[in-house]
Amino acid sequence: MLTLAVQKSGRLSEKTLRLLEECGIQIGNGGKGKLKAVSSTFPLEILYLRDDDIPECVADGIAHVGIVGANVVFEKDREVEIVEGLGFARCRMSIAVPKEMDYKGLADLNGLKIATSFPRILSKYLQENHVQAEIHEINGSVEIAPSIGLADVIFDIVSTGSTLLSNSLKEVETVLHSEAVLIAHPGMDAEKRALLEQLIFRIKAVLKAKDYKYILLNVPNEKIETICQILPGMKSPTVMPLAKEGWSSLHSVIREKEFWEIIERLKQNGAQGILVIPIEKMIV
Ligand code: ATP
Ligand code: MG
Repeated sequence: MLTLAVQKSGRLSEKTLRLLEECGIQIGNGGKGKLKAVSSTFPLEILYLRDDDIPECVADGIAHVGIVGANVVFEKDREVEIVEGLGFARCRMSIAVPKEMDYKGLADLNGLKIATSFPRILSKYLQENHVQAEIHEINGSVEIAPSIGLADVIFDIVSTGSTLLSNSLKEVETVLHSEAVLIAHPGMDAEKRALLEQLIFRIKAVLKAKDYKYILLNVPNEKIETICQILPGMKSPTVMPLAKEGWSSLHSVIREKEFWEIIERLKQNGAQGILVIPIEKMIV
């Protein structure tokens, strides 16, 4: 059985469990306060932890794998393998200064006091950029530190920037980008590795499907070739004759982003009745 450490409650929990479910790994919800659960559909045991404890737990082999923010992995700096980016809990870690500060560049941070819950990432960044500042570690509410006189500026997680705005702060340096990642214990035995490979295979199929859509459209026969070039598909599009003479139905798979870019070209070439349908799993 593979042991997976996940966040007990917080920004990662719901999406982590949803991803597992989409991978066909059901976990009985077992009620609040539970620390462990076993899946009935995959040889997987779940450990519910604070996100801060996940890298250590995986490095020590207490859990074989874990799902946690990349920022926390970098901060904890433990020996774990980052296996796969999971595409959710996207955020960045930035330095923010009071709105009224006339900030011109990193050198302006020399001699200032910076509040953060991520001292290690910050200290490495300051060192790399030859900035000498004092790091003040606090565990929460970092964004209020300047207004209560605890620090001059902050280094914190930003997603939309609205928290900064409501605390009269402005983002001045982006230090790193983060998303939830699957991490693994480096020294797993072959049996655990094989289970991990199965898990990765399923996760990839689910993530890939989210990026792609199934597209169906009706095209005049003389335009099939042109439209096939606009729509490359997985191998090549499926073309089926319509009951209406001179027309065919064309089926393919496209990236959602690309759809918006090519829709005009499809219409210009006579495509009609365009349907775009979500894909649940995609194995290529
Ligand atoms: P825990 O109680 O498990 O220690 P926490 O309070 O440290 O939880 P959360 O606020 O649940 O952590 O955030 C978990 C992760 O979600 C962050 O480390 C980060 O990777 C990601 N995240 C994405 N957007 C945001 C955001 N706007 N604010 C905070 N974290 C975010
Ligand atoms: Mg935490």
